[in-house]
Amino acid sequence: MLAIERRDYILKKLQETGRVQVSELSEALQVSRMTIHRDLDALEEEGLVKKVFGGAVSAVDYRREEPMGRCALCGRPVNVHTRVVLRTRQGNQIEACCPHCALLLLETRDDIASGLAVDFIHGKMINLKTATFLVNPDVVVCCTPPVLCFADEEEAHRFQLGFHGELTSLDEAQELTTHHMNLSASD
Ligand SMILES: [Zn+2]
Ligand SMILES: [Zn+2]
Repeated sequence: MLAIERRDYILKKLQETGRVQVSELSEALQVSRMTIHRDLDALEEEGLVKKVFGGAVSAVDYRREEPMGRCALCGRPVNVHTRVVLRTRQGNQIEACCPHCALLLLETRDDIASGLAVDFIHGKMINLKTATFLVNPDVVVCCTPPVLCFADEEEAHRFQLGFHGELTSLDEAQELTTHHMNLSASD
């Protein structure tokens, strides 16, 4: 089993139960505990899990179905399917209703250390820094222009074929979003 498959398995387990044990994972995946520890270290580095004695817990509460609060930028209720969780350098957690607002928060605040977004297709939390962004597709999700996040560039590309928009990395996505906002403001 590849590292990426183990990682998906671990994240899926965490979504279901909120907590995983190294011993259980090593048995279920037929690999050494050492390997599981390394997998968890990598996931922790990405901000997806938090290691605890004997295992790990979710860095975010995946099981929460209710909106968690309001967007730190626009004040809309946070939607569980599009939310972005940002962590500040001081260790505080702030939320954005969707990647659109997350990009603007990243641009206007200089105290944001990391972020987790929801993959638009699979609903799992992914690292904002390595996500593929689709800016201004023909879908109504939350804020305008809509911005969607994908873990897999290939899937993002297939989505783009049907719904258009521009595929970008994080840096370009910020520029494009402000560009589209300026365009609609001058209409
Ligand atoms: Zn917002
Ligand atoms: Zn929004």
